[in-house]
Amino acid sequence: MGLLKQLQACLLDLVFPSRCPLCGDLLYDHQSLCRQCAHDVEFICHPICRQCGRPLGSCHCGEATYAFTRNVSPLLYTNAARRGIHRMKFRNSPSSCAYFGKLMALAVRTEYLDAGIPIDCVMGVPMYSEDERRRGYNQANLLAKTVASELRLPYLSRVLIKYQKNQRQHTLSYAERQKNIKNVFCVVHTEKIDGKTVLLCDDVTTSGGTLNECARILLEAGAREVYCVTATAAVKS
Ligand SMILES: [Zn+2]
Ligand SMILES: [Zn+2]
Repeated sequence: MGLLKQLQACLLDLVFPSRCPLCGDLLYDHQSLCRQCAHDVEFICHPICRQCGRPLGSCHCGEATYAFTRNVSPLLYTNAARRGIHRMKFRNSPSSCAYFGKLMALAVRTEYLDAGIPIDCVMGVPMYSEDERRRGYNQANLLAKTVASELRLPYLSRVLIKYQKNQRQHTLSYAERQKNIKNVFCVVHTEKIDGKTVLLCDDVTTSGGTLNECARILLEAGAREVYCVTATAAVKS
């Protein structure tokens, strides 16, 4: 880097210092994460479950079958990643969204595209319209847009919608979650997904109930297949 460019970079850093996408601390020397987050963040490595994408031995899929074909998640929902998801959800942090979105795109490329799975379009798990208005954005859609742009795939907005408000999933038991997520989603433009392989994006998967219900509705509306990618996956301790 030339002297002028270096000076320009230093001045930019002084005026707009970069922040860690997971915790928001100031970053120095063009690191992608602060030292603490880089130490804490847990990547999901092979071997992984071919259904839910969690590390083998840490999932409870067993004989379970899902409406979606597969899910992949680059990170475990622990420590640093949990902080980053919180930051993205409640503080509208574009750098957190870019960090997670790029990792998701990489996981999709490695696990799906390079394996010959043709993805036709990308969408986020929808939020209930009033909730989205209150927050000002839907983080799943922001992630889906990043994934679509990284992989040069078409992004679909407002095709799958959540027309009914339900209770927050994480406060409920497994059985209650399954019931709580029923009859809240629908497809409003079936022609846009007819015969298509859809990539569904979200920030975190816990029981997989939301992904499964969205996939079921998409398939019912004519999608050929549904693959999922979430930034993080929660594992029961
Ligand atoms: Zn950090
Ligand atoms: Zn599994």
